[in-house]
Amino acid sequence: MASTTKNLSALGKHFSNEDKARELLESLRWPNGPVCPHCGGDSPYKLTPKATSKSPGRKGLYKCKACRKQFTVTVGTIFEHSHVPISKWLLAIHLLSASKKGMSAHQLHRMLGVTYRAAWFIGHRLRHAMSQEPMNLTGIVEADETYIGGKARNMHVAKKRRVMMKRGRSIAGKVAVMALLERHDKPSSQVRLHVLHSLRRHEVQGIVRDNVKHGATLHTDAFSSYTGLIADFTHNVIDHAECYVDGEVHTNNCENFWALLKRAIKGTYVSVEPFHLFRYLDEQTFRFNNRGGDDAFRFALALKGILGKRLTYTALTGSELPETC
Ligand SMILES: [Zn+2]
Repeated sequence: MASTTKNLSALGKHFSNEDKARELLESLRWPNGPVCPHCGGDSPYKLTPKATSKSPGRKGLYKCKACRKQFTVTVGTIFEHSHVPISKWLLAIHLLSASKKGMSAHQLHRMLGVTYRAAWFIGHRLRHAMSQEPMNLTGIVEADETYIGGKARNMHVAKKRRVMMKRGRSIAGKVAVMALLERHDKPSSQVRLHVLHSLRRHEVQGIVRDNVKHGATLHTDAFSSYTGLIADFTHNVIDHAECYVDGEVHTNNCENFWALLKRAIKGTYVSVEPFHLFRYLDEQTFRFNNRGGDDAFRFALALKGILGKRLTYTALTGSELPETC
């Protein structure tokens, strides 16, 4: 599998031909032959496409012997009901998995030759495929928070006044994001991100307790919302007013991650709606946590994520799916 998905050049032949793209997806999804997504039956048979004067017929269609239902390789995946060819989906997965600072909907739109709205929807469905299951972090865990969003000086004066009343000048209009990073030399450190609705102690500490194993070693800065965690963790504090590193006690791995995330958001996405921010965080987390592997590894991993993760346009936007998506 790795040889066919190693790089853009190797994948190229699957992008120009829809039959080859479908075959590749089938071989990746069903390495031991087709399996019915409705009942799990493993002995379906292939149906011959019925061509009419208007259409060449539906290719890649199977029928399950057990439940008698028909299906294709895209059923139960983020590709289901999409008008975008599989070949373009595969190219989009490769581009998003391999680009360290992400790829904007405008660039996907130009490179894939689909409408901007279809490209935007593809990007969000792929970010959804890249989202990871929550897990308990252990060992040495760094916790840190940052603020993402537009500068107050660029806001309309009425909005600026409104957000400053709520949040103060420096973080007005920004979204607070918290990182929990399990420190490793090899394999690479793993990060989990959470959008914070408030900076209050009960929310910050609730996230730490839900995601870090009781008794783990926690490194944080001197932010007051972390006070009290010492009851459940070995809590080391590094006060950034004094220094940034004290032996092993620091949050520098989180700082490195923030630098990369902010370059992606400012440089590639430019403006991110707070409502959709968690999806961009999922995408950046996926690439960061799997940075030890090559592009082929991340491509295969993102493809695995397409299963059982449908995301409808209505769920994303609250409006109907346009014809072109
Ligand atoms: Zn079946």
